[in-house]
Amino acid sequence: MSRPRIAVAGFQHETNTFSPVPTRYEDFEASGAWPALTKETDIFAVFHGLNIPLGGFIDAARDEWDLVPILWSNAEPGGYVAQDAFDRIAAMICDGIAEAGALDGIYLDLHGAMVTDDFEDGEGELLRRLRDVVGPDLPIAVSLDLHGNLTREFVELASVLAIYRTYPHVDMAATGARAKLLLAQLLASGQPFAKAFRQLDYLIPLQAQSTMREPGERLYGLLPGLEGSAVACIDLAFGFPPADIHHCGSSVVAFGTEQAAVDHAADEMLKALQESESEFHNPLIPANAAVRQAMEIAATAGKPVILADPQDNPGAGAIGDTTGLLKALVQEGAKQACLGMLWDPETASKAHEAGVGSSFTASIGNCVPQPNCGALDVQVRVEALSDGKFLFTGPMYGGTHADLGSMAVLLILDDNSEVRVVVGSHRAQNADQAIFRHIGIDPTQQKLVAVKSAVHFLADYQPIAEEVVFAEAPGANPCQLDLIPFKRLRPDVRLGPNGPVYSSAAE
Ligand SMILES: [Zn+2]
Repeated sequence: MSRPRIAVAGFQHETNTFSPVPTRYEDFEASGAWPALTKETDIFAVFHGLNIPLGGFIDAARDEWDLVPILWSNAEPGGYVAQDAFDRIAAMICDGIAEAGALDGIYLDLHGAMVTDDFEDGEGELLRRLRDVVGPDLPIAVSLDLHGNLTREFVELASVLAIYRTYPHVDMAATGARAKLLLAQLLASGQPFAKAFRQLDYLIPLQAQSTMREPGERLYGLLPGLEGSAVACIDLAFGFPPADIHHCGSSVVAFGTEQAAVDHAADEMLKALQESESEFHNPLIPANAAVRQAMEIAATAGKPVILADPQDNPGAGAIGDTTGLLKALVQEGAKQACLGMLWDPETASKAHEAGVGSSFTASIGNCVPQPNCGALDVQVRVEALSDGKFLFTGPMYGGTHADLGSMAVLLILDDNSEVRVVVGSHRAQNADQAIFRHIGIDPTQQKLVAVKSAVHFLADYQPIAEEVVFAEAPGANPCQLDLIPFKRLRPDVRLGPNGPVYSSAAE
C-alpha cells in the first residue's frame, strides 16, 4: 500500500475586535514569541520538537506519511485581520494545495478565533475557499486553540477537529499529534465522521478559564472519559470573549461513527458545563488594592507574589503598553518589584542609546493612546540591555526562539519604591520566566513579579509563586464581560457566568 500524501499548513490568529490596532500582513510575516511565516520544506526544520500543533503533527506523521508542507503563519493576537492579509495568506495555502498534486488528506493548524474585516468566521472562510479547491470529500483534519469561537458552518466544512485541552496551552504539540491519529482513522475507514456541535449559553471570561484551576481542570478532565467506541473524539472550546461576533462563546464538538453516540457525548459535556456555571469566578481586584494585597503577602513570604495584568495581555490582543499596574507599584511603594514585558520600542531604543548605568527621563508606555491610559513620565536608570533574542525555557514556549527586539531593564528612580520595568520592542505576553532571566532579573529573587498575561503565565510562574493576584488595570482585553459594549452577539447569550442576558437593544 502506498504511503498517504498529506498536505500540511497553518494560519493562526486570535482576533480581539476591541483592539485599536489592526493586524497586517507584516505582522504575520514577522517573528516574535512565535516563528515567522515559514514556507515549504523549511517547515520541517523550524517546527520539529516545538510545542506548536504543526510540530506535533509532523513529528507524529512523518515516518508513516508523505507530508507536503505548504505554509505556516501566525501573528500576535490583535485587532481585525486586514482583509488583504487574509486573502493573501489564504491564497498561498489554497494555491499551494491546488499545486500539490494528488492528496489523501490535509492537516490544518488553525486557531478558531480569527476575525477579518469582511468575515466574522475567518477559519470558516478559509475552509470554504479550500473546499472550492479540493471538493467536499477530501479529509481535512484541523487542530484548534481552546479559545476558538466556533461556528456550525466551520464544523461542517472540517472533517474532524482536535482542540487544546489545557490553558496554559502546554498541549499544543500533543493536540497536533491527536489530529494525526484522527486523520489516520478517517483514512482507514474511508467514511466521514458523524458530527455534533453545541454552543453554551453564557460567555466565560479568560481569567476564569484556566485548566490549572476549577472548574476548568475538572471539565477538561471529563473529555477522555466521553470518548470510546463510536465517539472518536469530543472537545471543548472555552472561547474568546473579547470578540464582538455572533458566534462568540464556548462550544462542544464531537466526531465519531454513530450520530446518536456523538450527540449523546456532546449533550453530556454541555450539561456538565451548564451545571458548573456558578463555579467560575472572576478574580480581578483594582490595581492599587491588588498591589497592597500582594505586598502584604510578600512581607512574610519566602517566594515572590505574582501580579497578573490580564486586561493589558498582548496574548489576548491588548497592546501591552498600559501603565496602570506599573503606576500602582510605584504609588504603593513596592520594593524588590519588577514588571514585564511592557511594549515600548521608543523607550527601549532610548535606553540603548543611553547605555547601561546611564539615567534619562523616560515617558514609559501609552504608545497607542487608549481611554483611561497615560504614560508614566519618570527618571530611570538603565540596568541591562538585550537584543531580545533568547530561548524560551518554560512549559508552554520552551525551545522556541524569542525575537522581541531591543529590550532594557529600567530602574524607576523614586525614593519610596524599588520597581524595575522590562521594556521590549515586539509585542508579547509574559508566559515564560526567560523574558526576565535572559536580561538579568531572577524572578525568584523578587518580592513582587508583575506580568502582562491573563492565564498562560501560570504554567511557568505558578511553581515559583507564593500566591497569584489578578489586578484590574486599563487595557484592550476587557475582562468584565457585562461592561463590554458588545453589539453583534447572538441574542440569547449571557455575559459571563450568571451574568445578564445580552440584549442588542442596549446599543
Ligand atoms: Zn488560546
